[in-house]
Amino acid sequence: MKWEENVRKVTPYVPGEQPNQPGVIKLNTNESPYPPAPGVSAALERLSADRMRLYPAFPEQTALAEELAEYYHVGRDQIFIGVGSDDVLSMAFMTFFHGNRPILFPDITYSFYDVWAEVYGIPYETRALDEQFCIRPGDYCQPNGGVIFPNPNAPTGILMGLDQVEEIVAANRDVVVIVDEAYIDFGGVSAVPLLDMYDNLLVVQTFSKSRSMAGMRIGYGLGSPRLIKYLHDVKYSVNSYTLNYPTLELGVEAVRDRAYFKSCCDKIIKTRARAEAELAKRGFTFPQSYGNFIFASHQKVQAKEIFAGLKENDIYVRWWNKERIDNYLRITIGTDEQMEALYAALDKVCGR
Ligand SMILES: *Cc1c(COP(=O)(O)O)cnc(C)c1O
Repeated sequence: MKWEENVRKVTPYVPGEQPNQPGVIKLNTNESPYPPAPGVSAALERLSADRMRLYPAFPEQTALAEELAEYYHVGRDQIFIGVGSDDVLSMAFMTFFHGNRPILFPDITYSFYDVWAEVYGIPYETRALDEQFCIRPGDYCQPNGGVIFPNPNAPTGILMGLDQVEEIVAANRDVVVIVDEAYIDFGGVSAVPLLDMYDNLLVVQTFSKSRSMAGMRIGYGLGSPRLIKYLHDVKYSVNSYTLNYPTLELGVEAVRDRAYFKSCCDKIIKTRARAEAELAKRGFTFPQSYGNFIFASHQKVQAKEIFAGLKENDIYVRWWNKERIDNYLRITIGTDEQMEALYAALDKVCGR
């Protein structure tokens, strides 16, 4: 059709499957196996239908922003809240990566980065991870239009030390560096303290994994007041009422209950340690993970085959048909009970 000449054509990001038949063990999208903080259910009861007549507040003027500012010891003007961190990241691409030089990110990483670069027409180059799947900081210390990487990296789970993160931020004072910390709460060290020294840094986190609220879509970015203002200007030029009223109310409770949050993260870290032992016992190798998942390869059986075999047993994990990583599975850490079911299924699929 003639009208198609004027269409913006993109190849969309492909998220993990969301099967809805009951009884499935879902270890494929890094959601938390634990419910949100108890205060979230209580806040749900308090929601008022009448309040829905009104537009919600701007996210930065809400109790949620205040709670986050307090938690991270930053000013409220250093916080940007979006509809999941995908929204924060997408807005950050649009806002900060507006130059002519290519932006840089790893060749194996969150597969949304190249999608945003394409949709916004941002030139980009990837830098290959080393043989052990590690990011080489020196690769990002050449002239560029901006830098983005997750820490820990996805889907490998490999954590970079804060000194290496700082090396990248310090070498790039003329551009914005985005550190995507979707998995930082599972044992990593956050770059948030670097905000005091670097006004070109944006740290992005999410409620979707460690805070058990993927379905509510809340993400946030932390940066210097100047940087955050630019982000708000762009966001409010696209859609100003971003988070809905229930989300704002429920989100506060997830941040407020620090003890519950910590107990969930601790449980997942503990289950992850057990999973490392159980998977190693069954012939898997994997880099040490600091995420709520393990990126594992079997010494004998092909990942694609295990992926299909597990699915037949109603266990969903993630597999990418992509160079360098097509013999790996990314397995989300579930409850101990779910993991036991996984080990039993692996014994069937990989043979014992
Ligand atoms: C899960 C994930 C996100 C996006 O999460 P949201 O649900 O949009 O908050 C961003 N980056 C990485 C590396 C992720 O794994």
